[in-house]
Amino acid sequence: MASLESLRSIIDGVAAVDWRRAAGLDTLEFKHLTGYPGLIHSIFTRHGGYSSGPFSELNIGLSCGDDPQTIAQNRTLMLTALGFKTGVFIDQVHGDDILVLQQGMDYRKTVWCLEEKKMPQPVCADGVVSDIQELGIVIQTADCQAVILFDPVRQVVANVHVGWRGSVANILKKCILVMTDAFGCYPKDIIGGISPSLGPCCAEFIHYRKELPKTFWPYRCGKSDCFDFWQISRMQLVEMGIPSENVAAANICTKCHCNHFFSYRTNRVTGRFGTVVGLKKRCVKKRVPPRL
Ligand SMILES: [Zn+2]
Repeated sequence: MASLESLRSIIDGVAAVDWRRAAGLDTLEFKHLTGYPGLIHSIFTRHGGYSSGPFSELNIGLSCGDDPQTIAQNRTLMLTALGFKTGVFIDQVHGDDILVLQQGMDYRKTVWCLEEKKMPQPVCADGVVSDIQELGIVIQTADCQAVILFDPVRQVVANVHVGWRGSVANILKKCILVMTDAFGCYPKDIIGGISPSLGPCCAEFIHYRKELPKTFWPYRCGKSDCFDFWQISRMQLVEMGIPSENVAAANICTKCHCNHFFSYRTNRVTGRFGTVVGLKKRCVKKRVPPRL
């Protein structure tokens, strides 16, 4: 397993993320998403879990061939490190369905309470939007993006799985529309973070003329058939009205750093690492009535 020092030097080399050790696990945080009371988020690496072999160590993906009990242990480890007792894991299918979990809904069958040993059957979706506190929303990736969205005014969070098919379907647009229509968010308030994922150095699409729309072609890098999907996601968010300065990408390529992150393009049999976001109960000061 690669050294911690090499991970640290990668993190020190990028402006958007900081390093945080959460309950003994190595995690990354977006600098522009820290300091908000009530918001917890982290991007986990592949280090620190119970899995072995190609899934070593912190694999949280159920459908890649690893032992389900070990995966449950890893998922528990990850959520507990952030102080969550409940989490939501979705069955990501490269579609554009968004799961909405809203206060007042009966969402218990959809979420996993760590005290219950059995995990619920995951809902097929590629994004989750929620305003429920104490719920860790998890996206699992190995080269795809997890895009965290947060509205500090309305206290709404989202986590979206964006692979190239998700980019083509513009799942980010759909997610922002859910946030505005169902939760009353304004795009100008929303802050976004793009997780470590396949970078412009490695996102090669030799059949791009068939697979990618012409609107993506300006993001082709030089003479190669590689595309900058970090910029494509940024463009899709900005087109929806999110200020460009509110969006940050980790700018860490998972294929280049497959010793720290799972990478499907590097090893077809591999695990999935987690990106988690959720709201915490905030301490509300008691209002003291003014003296008359
Ligand atoms: Zn790369």
